Amino acid sequence: MRAIALYEHGGIDKLVACELPTPEPGPGEVLVRVEAVALNHLDLWVRKGIPGLKLTYPHLLGADIAGELVSDGSKVIVSPVLSCMRCRDCLSGRDNLCRHFGLLGEHRSGGYAQYIAVPACNIVPRPTGMSAVDAAALPVTGLTAWQMLVKKAKVLPGETVLVIAAGSGVGVAAVQIAKLLGARVIATATSDAKLERARALGADETINTSTHDLVEGVKSLTGKRGADVIIEHVGKALWSQCILACATGGRIVTCGATTGFDAVTDLRHVFFRQLSILGSTMGSKGDLFDIVEQVKAGKIRPVIDRVLPLAEARKAHELLEGRQQFGKIVLEVPHP
Ligand SMILES: [Zn+2]
Repeated sequence: MRAIALYEHGGIDKLVACELPTPEPGPGEVLVRVEAVALNHLDLWVRKGIPGLKLTYPHLLGADIAGELVSDGSKVIVSPVLSCMRCRDCLSGRDNLCRHFGLLGEHRSGGYAQYIAVPACNIVPRPTGMSAVDAAALPVTGLTAWQMLVKKAKVLPGETVLVIAAGSGVGVAAVQIAKLLGARVIATATSDAKLERARALGADETINTSTHDLVEGVKSLTGKRGADVIIEHVGKALWSQCILACATGGRIVTCGATTGFDAVTDLRHVFFRQLSILGSTMGSKGDLFDIVEQVKAGKIRPVIDRVLPLAEARKAHELLEGRQQFGKIVLEVPHP
């Protein structure tokens, strides 16, 4: 099969087009013919190397996969969450807390190829009419945002939700899920063009954080109260401002730190104003069924920045690294 593989960590030039044997499904696994695979920042980090992560080469990136089962041709989405499916957490629907938690494309080879073998429990049916490109855009950012808003922050109708970096994959999903839950959404981005697109997705208010102060902006939009819920994933650059922009008794949910993890937290604001800081990573496999239902109902729509052929994986990485995109960059996998 055709694939784009890594043989060592490094820059974009380490993404190598090659022919590899089609994987043999192991016990409890199924073979998926990959039609589309979406990019995540995870792909960039795994390519460059994450401390403690040891890859088996050749390694294939790609956590967000849609395609069809080779066995019967049924259309599917693949959940990227790997776990043992035998422990207490897994069997209680908290599989992303499993001590064997991992992700496709990181802890085992992902979808930058024509075929992938995955555990059968990772397969979610894809509704008729949902394209592979749209489906591939959903899992990682959809699961991440769903858990942050629905399960962690437990957003209530009428609450104000501040979505940081609304043009990112997580941001695009978070704006839509927050609206679905009946919240008032304030979106931030670093360009007016991105903010306009966030409004088109349902954001009620916007703040350009490259030209305006985040705390002042949120305070003036909320009658000095601050945001009830903050969806945060950029880390250091805006963290201390998020603490100040959060309403007394509010919740900040963090799922990433793209600008740096060593952010400063003024604890006086955390205890005196009784803030909750909630950590979040991915979601459970089962949440993907809920997300697919909402997409089917037209309540959430996948936002695609652009589609490129798998062969242009290097260009796709370059684009994501440049952070100019709004929504997902998806690679289409040809099957001549
Ligand atoms: Zn487990």
